[in-house]
Amino acid sequence: MREEDFIRERKELVKRLVDEGVIISDKVKKAMLTVPRELFVPDAYRSYAYEDHPLPIPNGQTISAPHMCAIMCEALDVEKGDDVLEIGTGSGYNIALCSEIAAPTGEENNSIILSVEIFKELAIFARDNLRKAGYDDRVNVIVADGSMGAPARIEFNRILVTAAAPKIPENIIAQLKRNGRMVVPVGSEFFQNLLLIIKDENGEIHRKNLGGCIFVKLRGKYGFKDYRF
Ligand code: SAH
Repeated sequence: MREEDFIRERKELVKRLVDEGVIISDKVKKAMLTVPRELFVPDAYRSYAYEDHPLPIPNGQTISAPHMCAIMCEALDVEKGDDVLEIGTGSGYNIALCSEIAAPTGEENNSIILSVEIFKELAIFARDNLRKAGYDDRVNVIVADGSMGAPARIEFNRILVTAAAPKIPENIIAQLKRNGRMVVPVGSEFFQNLLLIIKDENGEIHRKNLGGCIFVKLRGKYGFKDYRF
């Protein structure tokens, strides 16, 4: 497929997501129109980049469906200049979307944008995708067990966890600034609820259930155990 075909398909997908009420804000719409999803999926699936489905990426993981990325971005309500943390880099697509809002292409910024991935192979895959798409100047990908939070003593305005957690990860919430927002799928390995967690100006936590979803499991210390047979 040629680049203009991808651009046309991207516009059509964004229009559908706006019509369906999934994309609400101009900033999420602009980010979805700007980030080329075809550069974040393996070559074999490139022609499916603008179907609204999850797709396989290396190590048996998945890049989330575009509507799920849009739902997370809308709920997070990322603002320009925000420091953003993602747990579960995968392809790098979702953090590219958030970074396009926090630190738009072509504008000065001093946002700290960090994404943590447990599989080294996927961190390499994501870094390569982010470089091709032009986000390697803003997004830092590190290899670590993010179930305990980012291995850095900083707090973030926005946090997205893109792997299913068995329970609300308190240690990740601890890295959220006041007036911060976080999204995290919480439930079993097979079905979760997407939770929006808001830390208000007094440091109090408020939760809202945004509905059912299915993510790959969070691994590591506070994730699901890896079963060996
Ligand atoms: N946000 C990704 C989707 C990622 S799928 C995208 O846009 O493509 C979930 C990812 O979480 C997988 O890559 C998986 O390897 C990673 N993951 C699972 N447990 C993790 C942990 N404890 N720390 C960091 N990453 C983890």
